[in-house]
Amino acid sequence: MITVAVIGGGAAGMMASLEAASCGAAVSVFERQSRVGRKLAVTGNGRCNLTNMNASPAAYHGTERGFAAGALGEYGPEETLEFFRTLGLVTAAEPSGRVYPLSDTAGSVVDVLRFAMEAAGVKLVADCEVRGLEKSRRGFRVVCPDSAWEADRVIVACGGMAGERFGGTKLGYRLLEDLGHHCTPLRWSLVQLRSDHPGCPSLKGIRADAGVSVLCRGRVLAEASGEVQFTDYGLSGPAIFEISRAALAQGDTVVSLDLLRSVSEEELTAMLLRRASGTPQLTMGDAFLGTVQNRVGRVLISAAGLKPSESIGKLDEKTARRLAKLAKHFEFPVTGDMGPANAQVTVGGIRTSEFDPATLESRLCPGLYACGEVLDIDGDCGGYNLQWAWSSGRLAGRSAAEV
Ligand SMILES: Cc1cc2nc3c(=O)[nH]c(=O)nc-3n(C[C@H](O)[C@H](O)[C@H](O)COP(=O)(O)OP(=O)(O)OC[C@H]3O[C@@H](n4cnc5c(N)ncnc54)[C@H](O)[C@@H]3O)c2cc1C
Repeated sequence: MITVAVIGGGAAGMMASLEAASCGAAVSVFERQSRVGRKLAVTGNGRCNLTNMNASPAAYHGTERGFAAGALGEYGPEETLEFFRTLGLVTAAEPSGRVYPLSDTAGSVVDVLRFAMEAAGVKLVADCEVRGLEKSRRGFRVVCPDSAWEADRVIVACGGMAGERFGGTKLGYRLLEDLGHHCTPLRWSLVQLRSDHPGCPSLKGIRADAGVSVLCRGRVLAEASGEVQFTDYGLSGPAIFEISRAALAQGDTVVSLDLLRSVSEEELTAMLLRRASGTPQLTMGDAFLGTVQNRVGRVLISAAGLKPSESIGKLDEKTARRLAKLAKHFEFPVTGDMGPANAQVTVGGIRTSEFDPATLESRLCPGLYACGEVLDIDGDCGGYNLQWAWSSGRLAGRSAAEV
């Protein structure tokens, strides 16, 4: 019987272990944390956006474009959801294609995988950080602080460096580099953006549904729409994660928010003027009543250089146009991001050209496999990264167990 050691009990490692076990291998999973799926348990704001029905190679990035196509083509969202259904997980897809467990709880996804691993006889070695992988006569020696284990084949599923708070680490890159592999420069993406806009502190805690554009000297680099969260340091929320890659790819970028997507600038101007003439007893601070959140309205008024306490009766057409333009193009200069500890995904990783896309076996070290975020593949925001973990984990698990 072939023995397979899976290094890392995250999304990709759990999937790889289940697949290898179902193909008849004796599988051990080594996890440095006390339990498996720690990062998985916090994904999607605790809801776990486990895949996206639109997942295709176009949603993935890496030096070698198209590398992800093999694993995804064989095992895409539909196959993944079918697999989870057999484990007893019921899911629901949103109109955007994002899929969540019906329980809306990421813990449900971790639990069904954990119990399936137990049922399949996968041995879990928890609280065990693998410090080295050495080639041995049998295959590999898995070196831990207080012990060493032998395995015919090894799957490295250690994840990337993003999300340090939930177990993100560079250890996987080192294990693979020690066996001759190379790592591309590492960055991170799907992250909150910092801005020095003076309105940020007073907007803290507000959520808005907005159109989001990234601009660089007037040129649109990326667009998204959805929830934006204002924070004291800048901007967060799914729509911001989605454009963070473009916002950070070059300097001098600005995030422009359209806070009233369903109202044109002309219409908004007319609404503001109607308010000014119809209810002149109100103040400028009330100008946006009924359109955007009150605190947002007051920040827009200040940004236009107006006093919130002034009478709205003074509002002339030129100023109304300026205010409407501000609400439709509320601009935040990007000054940085919240760093790898808070990012959802690593950009870069172990060079994919050193692996066979059809099996995920190393071209440099036969019997060695890698899957998930440790490889130089990252997906867009919306369930794509977990889909890569499932697809690549399954392929690596199956290939490693092959006699
Ligand atoms: C806050 C947050 C929210 C996210 N939300 C989503 C989402 O909703 N949808 C989505 O698609 N993606 C999301 N992601 C991204 C997604 O979670 C990752 O891309 C995915 O988990 C990667 O899977 P992986 O198995 O490769 O790595 P991980 O899930 O990180 O698992 C790697 C495991 O290996 C262990 N390990 C590492 N080194 C060693 C070692 N030397 N010895 C033993 N064990 C080791 C780690 O402890 C960890 O448990 C989110 C990420 C974060 C941080």
